[in-house]
Amino acid sequence: MAVFTAFEEQDVIADLTKNVVDGVVFTDLETLKKQSFSPRMTDADSGLALAFVDAKSSADIKGVLQTARTFHIPVITQNQFTSTVIGADGLTGAIILSTRSLNKIIEISKEDGLAVVQPGVINQALDDEARKLGMFYAPDPGSKSISGIGGNTATNAGGMSTVKYGATKDNVLGLTVILADGRELKLGGRTLKQAFSYDLTQLFVGSEGTLGIITEIIVKLLPLPIGTPMMGNAFFPDMTTLAKAVAAIRLSGVGPTMLEALDSNTIAALDQYEGTDYASESGAMLIFKIDQSTLEIEQKMNDLLTKFGAANIQVTTDPAKQAALVKLRQDMLPAVFAGQNHIMEDMALPLSKLAPMMDYIQQIGEQLGLKIYVAGHAGDGNVHPTIVWPADASEMPPQVNEALQLMFKKTLELGGTISGEHAVGMVKNQWNNLELGEDVDFLQHQIKALLDPMNLLNPKRKIN
Ligand SMILES: Cc1cc2nc3c(=O)[nH]c(=O)nc-3n(C[C@H](O)[C@H](O)[C@H](O)COP(=O)(O)OP(=O)(O)OC[C@H]3O[C@@H](n4cnc5c(N)ncnc54)[C@H](O)[C@@H]3O)c2cc1C
Repeated sequence: MAVFTAFEEQDVIADLTKNVVDGVVFTDLETLKKQSFSPRMTDADSGLALAFVDAKSSADIKGVLQTARTFHIPVITQNQFTSTVIGADGLTGAIILSTRSLNKIIEISKEDGLAVVQPGVINQALDDEARKLGMFYAPDPGSKSISGIGGNTATNAGGMSTVKYGATKDNVLGLTVILADGRELKLGGRTLKQAFSYDLTQLFVGSEGTLGIITEIIVKLLPLPIGTPMMGNAFFPDMTTLAKAVAAIRLSGVGPTMLEALDSNTIAALDQYEGTDYASESGAMLIFKIDQSTLEIEQKMNDLLTKFGAANIQVTTDPAKQAALVKLRQDMLPAVFAGQNHIMEDMALPLSKLAPMMDYIQQIGEQLGLKIYVAGHAGDGNVHPTIVWPADASEMPPQVNEALQLMFKKTLELGGTISGEHAVGMVKNQWNNLELGEDVDFLQHQIKALLDPMNLLNPKRKIN
């Protein structure tokens, strides 16, 4: 039977061009390919978008949504496109709606301890501006210098300082959101406490572009702490011992700002990348920071590290040496990824279950003959195992998938989550039922249907 289409692609483009009044509509192949396919995915996972819209105003966003409703076309909201879970990549025939050019810091209020920003503002840029006034923006994903506050909010990004200052959700006070039907909502506000309504602000934090388009964010800014930050590193025989030490430090009252773990494979990769020589020291490295350190805290920290068998404990208050340690941690991804195929995962465990998980990951690697690099924001129980295989392999070895399945199942068994901070995207949405259970999974679909009944916003991602 012949199938007749109701409209041609050029009809959609013409409508889009009419509706986008301030921004730019791109339809050239080069732009579409660049914005549809991130390096973290294969063509099979996604598809070439029909148009890429660089929105410059809320009117543009409403215009894109009008076209989407008219022609029943999916809209993928994209910000700085650093998602690691195939969250912002194209889908065949979809419109990619970019909020990256909505990049103004609208207000920094020292008096109220907050900033009002557009989604395209780069995390680092906001932090830099806040610091000029003696404040700072706490959430610090590894992608701080390349990802935007809008993307951070839509994924509930975490980072190294989450252990002390919380993830993005703990630092968002209010949002402006445009729904699929074009309604513009103001949620939350400028107060540090809010107990009035259902917390719809938090519903949109981490919603991954599936419930609405975030156009403005009110975030907390904190005063720069008084005192001397202390930073250091220490070496443990293995990741399991390190994880036990981390749980004890977290519960000790020393108030760490950073507790980052790197296993021996990761350290060796970093040594090669940076020209350092940490690998000869031991099986696992902990990088720690305490913002407001005192002699008493330093002593307590030293006692805890020693109790768990840490060797070569080095501590510094020198800002340059501290920056070098942060850089070492930030360089972990390029160091590990260099020249090989990889999948990096992102589970979070209850603190007491981090050590058994470390054991399990090692066991899986040995059992399946895989090289697994393990690192993570250990202070949050957040672990990032990266499985690698040769760059010239035509396909991902089946053991990689098997390892991921086993690790995910073990995480859930231990009471953890398979997405600590990187979100769900298209990589983990098949796990919704297992992680959430059928009732919660169904309720999430009901919420989605209420806010986006035509399923226009980032379909196939997060819950579908
Ligand atoms: C080197 C590197 C290090 C990283 N380190 C970390 C880390 O430590 N912690 C961490 O959490 N993540 C990390 N990430 C992942 C990624 O940077 C984060 O998920 C980040 O929050 C995405 O921001 P973005 O601006 O690039 O958004 P994008 O990648 O463009 O989009 C991400 C998601 O948000 C949605 N979205 C984007 N903008 C909007 C909007 N305006 N309204 C509604 N939805 C929107 C998209 O649809 C998509 O689902 C890292 C990535 C890289 C490449």
